[in-house]
Amino acid sequence: MGESISLIGRAAEWHDRVAISDQAGTHTYADLLARSERAAARLLDGQTDLDEARIAFMVEPSFDYVRAQWAIWRAGGISVPLCLTHPAPELEYVLDTTTPVIAIASSIYADLLRPLADARSIRFLLVEELKQDPVPLPRIEPDRRAMILFTSGTTGRPKGVVTTHANIQAQIISLVEAWEWDEDDRILLTLPLHHIHGIVNVIGCALWSGARCDMLPAFAADQVVDRLTAGHLSLYMAVPTIYHRLITHLDQMSDEATSAFRDGVGRLRLMVSGSAALPVPVLERWRELSGHTLLERYGMTEIGMGLSNPYRGERVPGSVGMPLPGVDVRVVGDDGIEVSGDEPGEIQVRGPTVFLEYWNRPQDTGSAFTSDGWFRTGDTAIVEKDRYRILGRSSIDILKTGGEKVSALEIEDVLLGHEAISEAAVVGIDDPEWGQRVVAVLVQSGPVEAEELKAWAKSRLAPHKVPKEFHFTDALPRNAMGKTLKPEVVRLVEERV
Ligand code: AMP
Repeated sequence: MGESISLIGRAAEWHDRVAISDQAGTHTYADLLARSERAAARLLDGQTDLDEARIAFMVEPSFDYVRAQWAIWRAGGISVPLCLTHPAPELEYVLDTTTPVIAIASSIYADLLRPLADARSIRFLLVEELKQDPVPLPRIEPDRRAMILFTSGTTGRPKGVVTTHANIQAQIISLVEAWEWDEDDRILLTLPLHHIHGIVNVIGCALWSGARCDMLPAFAADQVVDRLTAGHLSLYMAVPTIYHRLITHLDQMSDEATSAFRDGVGRLRLMVSGSAALPVPVLERWRELSGHTLLERYGMTEIGMGLSNPYRGERVPGSVGMPLPGVDVRVVGDDGIEVSGDEPGEIQVRGPTVFLEYWNRPQDTGSAFTSDGWFRTGDTAIVEKDRYRILGRSSIDILKTGGEKVSALEIEDVLLGHEAISEAAVVGIDDPEWGQRVVAVLVQSGPVEAEELKAWAKSRLAPHKVPKEFHFTDALPRNAMGKTLKPEVVRLVEERV
């Protein structure tokens, strides 16, 4: 037999242990192996190897999601997980960029995805159709491309980050070692599965370790509190916005219920926060409510996880800790030279966890790396007593809202496409729940109401990119180049809200 993807090869070791539980029930490692093999046969459909053909899939977090992902990998394809809340134009962008040969959907997404696939002559399959008698599967070398995830940058539309099987494996092994995963672990997944956080940190690490992953189709504060209270879990990972929402929910519960919660959640061995800065008040309130000091880590779609507070040892609030195993990290000044002592500079990362390339964008890939192979993150940090503290991003046009990376320029472009808008500036305003709240400041050239504009944006942009507020003004501050001066716009908005 072919195979050689270690994550999948290891699964045979865990055989009858539960790998995944979802709305449909529990599924063992043996189920996952057997059913992903049959699904791979269906994808191959007579071919011997998909040879890095892209396969897009739109499946809710569930056993079926992982079955589809493993099938794509086992058949030799590149997996392109689609965001479940994207409106058609965003899905079309991903399809047109990655040109998949097959699009897979679970039945609830079929009405949305099938016509988009048909219009592009992409073969469409329902996830339940993924079964066929097993056939010999190709051998997959570690340096083969495995996945494309989309992430926003400072220019243009989102870029597809390509990782190989070796990259994904290195990302998993680093976290398994640092956070001491083993087969007795049980984690609750409430993260979306078109981002690395859920795919690698939660599912990848769990399945590598022979652990169990309980999946909710989407985040719901009451259900998460119930699961944490039940006391069966050992790990939980989320973005700061989710911890903020859980705190809001817990603050409305009775004393008895919060004390039961504290007992149950106390049995977890680790709770992690990342993807955006964890505000110290959130860390402190969570500690009061749960007894856990959240472990904050720093990572990026392009590098996997780079820095982490220690699993054992002191977790410093406001710090993202130290380099993870196997990851080289340095801080570089504007002159391109590594800073000494505690001066701020850009975080640069090197090592086997770092991605291969941006899909079909050789120039962007080239400029993302230094001549000696370090990836430029665009994040500024300072190292204090060997611990990294993130100070901000080098571009004001990159926002993080609810843990999602967003390009202000992309949203401005969409808003400028409306006939009643002549100028647009999108900014992130500090917000206790969202980290940054997406706000648009606009100059009108014709009549339009904020609500109408919101609906218009919603039909074109993923939900997290749609501005929460629209402010209208007579003129936007400009610099000599004719560009909006963002800090001035931020001030303009802050004066008004
Ligand atoms: P993404 O590729 O969507 O995961 O976004 C990566 C970006 O999220 C990084 O470049 C940082 O700007 C930000 N980020 C991730 N983790 C943290 C953290 N713990 N603190 C501050 N920013 C973070």
